[in-house]
Amino acid sequence: MQISDAQLDQVNTQIQRLLASDNFYGRRLREAGITGVGSVEDFLALPFCEKQDLRDAYPLGLSAVPEEQVVRIHSSSGTTGTPVIIPYTQRDVDDWAAQFARCYEYAGVTSEDRIQITPGYGLWTAGIGFQAGCELLGAMAIPMGPGNTEKQLQFMIDMQSTVLTATASYALLLAEEIERRGIKDQIRLRKLITGSERSGEKIRKRIIDALGVEYYDIYGLTEVYGPGIGINCQHGHGMHVWSDYVFLEIIDPDTGEVLPDGEWGEIVLTTLVKEGAPLIRFRTHDLSRIIPGDCSCGHDEHPRIDTITGRSDDMMKIHGVNVFPAQIEEILASFPELSSEYQIRLSHLDGRDTMRLYVETNGSVDWEDLRRRVARRCKHKVGFTPLVKIVELGVLPRSEKKTRRVYDERYE
Ligand code: ZN
Repeated sequence: MQISDAQLDQVNTQIQRLLASDNFYGRRLREAGITGVGSVEDFLALPFCEKQDLRDAYPLGLSAVPEEQVVRIHSSSGTTGTPVIIPYTQRDVDDWAAQFARCYEYAGVTSEDRIQITPGYGLWTAGIGFQAGCELLGAMAIPMGPGNTEKQLQFMIDMQSTVLTATASYALLLAEEIERRGIKDQIRLRKLITGSERSGEKIRKRIIDALGVEYYDIYGLTEVYGPGIGINCQHGHGMHVWSDYVFLEIIDPDTGEVLPDGEWGEIVLTTLVKEGAPLIRFRTHDLSRIIPGDCSCGHDEHPRIDTITGRSDDMMKIHGVNVFPAQIEEILASFPELSSEYQIRLSHLDGRDTMRLYVETNGSVDWEDLRRRVARRCKHKVGFTPLVKIVELGVLPRSEKKTRRVYDERYE
């Protein structure tokens, strides 16, 4: 692992800020007697922090600045338990917009573009980030927010939107609707920027085929600005992460050891210039790897992470076997007769864990044969046989936000 002198200086400034604020991490540093870092080894001795630490600081305990400097808060979705509140200073807000504008530039978006923004506005860091970056770039924001597909399509046509920003699920829903209505020739979209949800190869291909757009994945999380801290460029594979704002590590999620470039593990992020809520070695639980080597775009100062394959806490344990949804997705992707959608339901029947796997196909194949082939390939690839259930194309739910695909009913 490498950390530059400039980044070490930035980490030192963050450490001073945290010590002065005496928030949870400042106290942790003080108790460990850490006052700064001068080397990679010093950096690696800094303790990790976790989402639970941020929750425990609810509501404003994370703040590392006097209250008069806080201009805004955001909050993570908090579907389970206490939400996390992240305070932002004016500089944090400006830095986030600058990173987002850079994302648009890397995707080849210019001030000539019209950007239709469908992620939600509000406490969540989505819509407002897409908008601030768009305005800083000088493009035209069309701030739709989520839902109301009828109006989305009307504006897409009447405003001749050239860029769509959406979750992959909602982009799929819109793409299928555009196909169904046969209105593609009235649509001018040339780029799609998706974020906040992992999307497999199959769903991408489906959307690209239906809309004829370039597809970009944006990376980010509410705890660290929001979406916009990285994006894939027009040249290579993987998402560049802005090394002047965040420091990136990949660790073994079990041991906490830093892994060499190329190996898969958990993304850990350190904010380098954040004022409102600086985070040091924050464990994201997102699984990826650093792509080794140079990108043909020439921006090697910003390291690349691979597609997020899942979250370390998404792991399902079935018959003692560890399985990630991404593995099931990869198996399903090898069947051209299946759609991109699936649903996994885990239950406990007669003392045994059971996985029911719902998949979609059209009517033109032999369902019983397909069912057997999918079950056999799962057995071969992940070591157990799910109960495969085939349903008609379009039966599984499409979502305007993130599509939930795994239901664990064993402990309900
Ligand atoms: Zn690149």
